Amino acid sequence: MLYYNNSVEEKYPDVIKYFQSGINNPDKNISHCLLFWGPDITSQCEIALEVARLLNCEKEGEKHCECLNCKWIKEQTHPAVKIYTRLDFKEAGENSDDEKTTGKKNIDKSQAKAIINELGISSDYHRVYIFCDRDEDGNLLPLNKVNFPEVTSNALLKTFEEPPQNTTFIFLTNDKTDIISTVVSRAQAFFIPAKIKEDFSYELVENCIKNYWQTNRNDVLEFENNIMELINSNNPKIIFTQIQNYMSAILKSNFNNKVLYYRIMRDLKYVEEAKRQVSLTPAMNTQTVVENLCFKMIL
Ligand SMILES: [Zn+2]
Repeated sequence: MLYYNNSVEEKYPDVIKYFQSGINNPDKNISHCLLFWGPDITSQCEIALEVARLLNCEKEGEKHCECLNCKWIKEQTHPAVKIYTRLDFKEAGENSDDEKTTGKKNIDKSQAKAIINELGISSDYHRVYIFCDRDEDGNLLPLNKVNFPEVTSNALLKTFEEPPQNTTFIFLTNDKTDIISTVVSRAQAFFIPAKIKEDFSYELVENCIKNYWQTNRNDVLEFENNIMELINSNNPKIIFTQIQNYMSAILKSNFNNKVLYYRIMRDLKYVEEAKRQVSLTPAMNTQTVVENLCFKMIL
């Protein structure tokens, strides 16, 4: 299964720009432990592979670069860029109580040991280990406390904290609470929204949400009423999606403004949560969802 996607930069321009500017910075100021969370694991993996490519490219990291590292990563044959799942490790475990590979339930301690041994040998490349799960057909699945259990995480904790140089770990999951907190606290977390397939328009919401971060806390009720009006005359999910589209557009043109960037990244997550709440069966009361959202968005 190939997961590299040439158009990941178009799908997630804000996230990719963040990594491009971090990696091109002389101090390479991105964390060596990254956690991507959200509903779409395949997109997370595409982003992870793009980060791996940017870290390893021998040239400037341009999209169509054909240097050997970029070529290997696009073909997923790079010796130092690996997708680790419970199924992608076929060597026999050293402990008799380890699960057999067939029906193997989790990334186990023998995998952890193998990773530690491997990292003990120096590498000419920037190593990127992407941790997630997959099924037998290669469909990517999120990490959770079953497939990435505490015993494995603990065996690797010191490595995550102080990896050898030029090593990056990336964890893919649906929710931060699905990974043990000692790993989460060592990682820089990024919420990755589902790929918005409809379109990138936001004309329905633009009047109402324009420069919302400048809205005064005293005006939150008016802000809420305006959104509620939109929701009452449209499908709530479309309104939430358009709000996210607007936020993505703002991120795209403001990725150098760190304060605004983090604010909007955070708000994108709140909107995703609201979208989920109105899709539940039974759905949460829409008014309550909108009220909670507005009070979180307007400080
Ligand atoms: Zn390259």
